[in-house]
Formats: sequence, C-alpha cells, structure tokens
Amino acid sequence: MNIALIAHDSKKELMVQFCIAYCGVLSRHNLCATGTTGKLVAEATGLNIQRYLSGSQGGDQQIGARISCNEIDVLFFFRDPLNAKAHEPNEMTLLRLSDVHNIPVATNIATGEALIHALERGDLDWRDIVRT
Ligand code: PGA
Repeated sequence: MNIALIAHDSKKELMVQFCIAYCGVLSRHNLCATGTTGKLVAEATGLNIQRYLSGSQGGDQQIGARISCNEIDVLFFFRDPLNAKAHEPNEMTLLRLSDVHNIPVATNIATGEALIHALERGDLDWRDIVRT
C-alpha cells in the first residue's frame, strides 16, 4: 500500500508521535511525505520515506500528482484548521483530488487512528487489487 504523510507545522509533533506509535504497521507499506514532515518522521522512527519537496515549495502538489495517477492508497494529512496558511488553496486541491479518486484521508488524529487500525486489519487491501 502506498501511504502519504503531510503535517502542518503545529501538527508535526503529533504526526511524529503517531508514526512512532504505529511504526510497525507503517513499516509494512511504502511511505512518502512532504519534505519536513518526512524528515522528522524518518529521524524519529527510522522508517524509509520517500521525501518530496516541502509543502511551501510544492511538495503537497507532488503528492497530489501521485493521487491523480492513482498511486496513493491512503493519505494522513494532519491539518491545523486554526491558522490559515499562505498555501491553503493547495490543501483544498489535495483534498479535492482525494475525493475525486476516492482516497481514504485522515485530517486529524482520531480518523488517523481509525485508518491505521483498518490498515492493520487489512481492510484496505482491496485497493492494491484494484490498482494492479
Ligand atoms: P512540510 O510540508 O512537511 O515540508 O512542512 C507540509 C506543510 O506545508 O505544512
């Protein structure tokens, strides 16, 4: 399964803790992330993560392109809804593309936990079959 990770600055520590907690599950999948998120998670967990550009430089759009090509199966995108970011329109594009391509997305830790347990149980394995 191809999994993408993105966290806004105020959610990066949360993403790191989440990935430490579920390192075992995540290590069984192909991971990619925006630049800083990927760096922090890789340093904290030792997970192998394909890193794209930083979000502000277009990293989220690179992930969006992969979603458009049906190359992403699950997106963990921990957002900060309280602080508007200059590149907020890009986020909406990413979420729109996820809806277009029916990608399960977690925008907060609660849904993140639900999705990771679904991954653990193999509930999302059908995505691999559909893609191949
Ligand atoms: P970053 O990108 O992981 O490179 O910080 C995400 C974001 O734009 O917040």
